Amino acid sequence: MTDEQSVMRIVIVGGGTAGWMSAAMLARFAPPGYAITLVESETIGTVGVGEATIPAIRLFNDALEIDEGAFLAATKGSFKLGIEFAGWLEDGHSYMHAFGTVGRQLGVLPFRHFWARGRALGIAKPLAHYSANELAARTGRMAIDARGPGIPEVPYAYHFDAGLYAAFLRDYAEKRGVERIEATLAGASRTDSGDIAAVMTNDGRAIAGDFFIDCSGFKGLLIEQELKTGYEDWRHWLPCDRAVAVPCEPSGNFTPYTRSTARAAGWQWRIPLQHRIGNGHVFCSEYMSEDEASAVLLANLDGKPLADPRAIPFVTGRRKRIWNRNVLAVGLSSGFLEPLESTSIHLIQSTITRLLTVLPGKHIEPAVVEGFNRRSAAEFETIRDFLILHYWANQRTGQPFWDRMRALELPETLAQRIAEFRAANQIQPATDELFTEVAWLQVLVGQGLVAGSWNPIADRYPQEELAAFLGAVEKACIETVRPMPMHIDCVAALCGAAAKEKAA
Ligand SMILES: Cc1cc2nc3c(=O)[nH]c(=O)nc-3n(C[C@H](O)[C@H](O)[C@H](O)COP(=O)(O)OP(=O)(O)OC[C@H]3O[C@@H](n4cnc5c(N)ncnc54)[C@H](O)[C@@H]3O)c2cc1C
Repeated sequence: MTDEQSVMRIVIVGGGTAGWMSAAMLARFAPPGYAITLVESETIGTVGVGEATIPAIRLFNDALEIDEGAFLAATKGSFKLGIEFAGWLEDGHSYMHAFGTVGRQLGVLPFRHFWARGRALGIAKPLAHYSANELAARTGRMAIDARGPGIPEVPYAYHFDAGLYAAFLRDYAEKRGVERIEATLAGASRTDSGDIAAVMTNDGRAIAGDFFIDCSGFKGLLIEQELKTGYEDWRHWLPCDRAVAVPCEPSGNFTPYTRSTARAAGWQWRIPLQHRIGNGHVFCSEYMSEDEASAVLLANLDGKPLADPRAIPFVTGRRKRIWNRNVLAVGLSSGFLEPLESTSIHLIQSTITRLLTVLPGKHIEPAVVEGFNRRSAAEFETIRDFLILHYWANQRTGQPFWDRMRALELPETLAQRIAEFRAANQIQPATDELFTEVAWLQVLVGQGLVAGSWNPIADRYPQEELAAFLGAVEKACIETVRPMPMHIDCVAALCGAAAKEKAA
């Protein structure tokens, strides 16, 4: 802060997942002299979906020193070991993007080179055999380090009720001094320089601030409606433009993974929570009506629907600059990538964490904003490429939507990646890229792409040694998973422990 005498006022606009995640992080880390206010409108409400996450969410909860049991109990959450993609290559086919490693490095080489050679020799099994996470997921098992001595931890994320998570974080943030104002906003006033001076409520109040975090959802109340920042539309690559969502009764099949099933003009998600299963059908309205999409969804539920399907339109893409003047867009106001790889809540987390690394005072350095926007754009773009890969590499021939997706002109960055993999089994994620080499490998292979060669260092190992290595890796996965408790017992034990602590 340049002026240490005056309070730095940060105003968060919106109290969905993005708003309360931002508020909680600022409440935890902002130094004295920062006053945090959050404005939300119960009349407008939240988007009300967003239930699957990726492992980085644990860093977020850890940073807030949130007790895992209390969190799972409050959000009716479950564990997530990966995402199953059913029918994405073709009907009847399934693969998993499981978290954690697949196989293990030998010498200087990643596992995929030994596996590719093993496949060519006919001595390697499908990739899934070398992933403890996938084996655990498919057998309904789960372990965290606290669950038993000698049971190794497997990387995991959570499914949770996003509305309950926001409420949980609201409680956290309010206890740490965040002021919440219930109001419907109708615009903003500006300073002479054009920055936002205050947000205006529809009953004539002004809520003044020095820095604004726009968490107002798709509409982007400040970043777009006020500042006209502009939006990069990616529907030519990711043409799905709406979802219908409906919860249903739990089925007893309490799987520790998200399922994504390809449908004629999109895909359906299944997210098991303690009290219900979250379901939704993401589709492209050029190929399917909302009524048809709802019918497909309702015909493919595990249990009785608990509500009528709700439609949510969206435009895939990103805000041209997520930080513009004294406004940072966080959450849906910053852009949208369909939830195929459960990345939206992660983007909230990474944006707010990145903000903390350059926490602004009253003076904002344009160079900092520029760097921030560049990194955020790159993050959106690599996720975009990863999503396109799932669609483009399909073999669902004869279905107009999927035929179109196979014919896509790929972004140069993705085309290059695919070419490197096909030519030489190379996967080189950028330094701070979200998805690891192993994540890319599972989706490339799962979608039927084949590496044309492998690193010749893998040829140094005689065939018997290679077979023994592959066998040992598979055995290690089986032995890791064998003693694990069932997922349902893990959740019950953790939530039970939290409930007991609460009662004590
Ligand atoms: C179909 C679908 C499925 C998804 N699935 C996943 C998933 O599985 N995993 C994942 O990580 N993410 C998922 N997401 C994304 C996730 O839902 C969002 O990233 C997350 O909920 C954050 O939303 P938000 O807080 O930005 O917006 P919202 O939830 O829309 O919140 C906006 C807030 O702004 C307030 N507001 C708006 N206008 C005004 C106003 N004029 N005055 C006052 N307050 C106002 C509202 O009241 C609300 O509090 C999904 C999204 C969609 C659309």
